[in-house]
Amino acid sequence: MIIDEIKDYIKSCDAVLITAGAGIGIDSGLPDFRGQEGFWNTYPKAKELNIRFSQLANPQWFYTNPKIAWAFYGHRFNLYKNTIPHKGFYKLLDLVKQKNDNYFIYTSNVDGQFQKAGFDEDKIMECHGSISYFQCLDNCKNNVWKNEKEISLDFEKFEANNIPKCIHCESIARPSILMFNDWDWNSKISDKQKYRFRTWLKKIRKSKAKVVIIEIGAGKVIPTIRNLGHTLVKNHIEHFKLIRINPRDFEIDDNIGYSLKLGGLEGINKILN
Ligand SMILES: [Zn+2]
Repeated sequence: MIIDEIKDYIKSCDAVLITAGAGIGIDSGLPDFRGQEGFWNTYPKAKELNIRFSQLANPQWFYTNPKIAWAFYGHRFNLYKNTIPHKGFYKLLDLVKQKNDNYFIYTSNVDGQFQKAGFDEDKIMECHGSISYFQCLDNCKNNVWKNEKEISLDFEKFEANNIPKCIHCESIARPSILMFNDWDWNSKISDKQKYRFRTWLKKIRKSKAKVVIIEIGAGKVIPTIRNLGHTLVKNHIEHFKLIRINPRDFEIDDNIGYSLKLGGLEGINKILN
């Protein structure tokens, strides 16, 4: 049985790298904006206005129509703030504790769910930034700040009631996350995280620790997360293996690892029970 093989492999590992895409959040009730309809189901007003996700996830909106931009990002900010991570996160947390906290998280999600579930902030790499941090639209002081306040908005109208402002210059603020055609994203926090991630990898390499990469819900459209896992396994073939949990894009080469055609929570439950 493939599940037994996976379990044995995980048991024999010294360290864990959890890599995640939008699919991991679905079991917590979060939308993954998959496909045009997926996005429009969550934001019917965007459908009415004929705005696509790829258009809206663009900093240009903050200049031309900040009310709509902040309706979209404000809604997501509030949603992520109020979401409780599903049980799979806590199973993963138990696993990394068993490995003496020798782990790292690499996620393309901006929703802060790993932090919320209790993973160490210093062991998380958010490659697209985090919606909890805001920055100036013009990046005036090259700074980011943490926002705790919910964004007031009218969901029906798809408009923010007030526009968050830069704490330095009173210009418009935006979430500090990487968007499409985004030249002003302040990657300060992400850069620090990347440094810590590289340092961890160096240690792993030096100690020849055996690593399991558990990849959950990472799609092919923006393949950053999948590519990372592939590259790591290819470069450290004897002591890295990838376990892919994905209900749709589940294909994997035998020399990379194993794949489970399952949703996030179900897959985690299968391999960590
Ligand atoms: Zn500013």
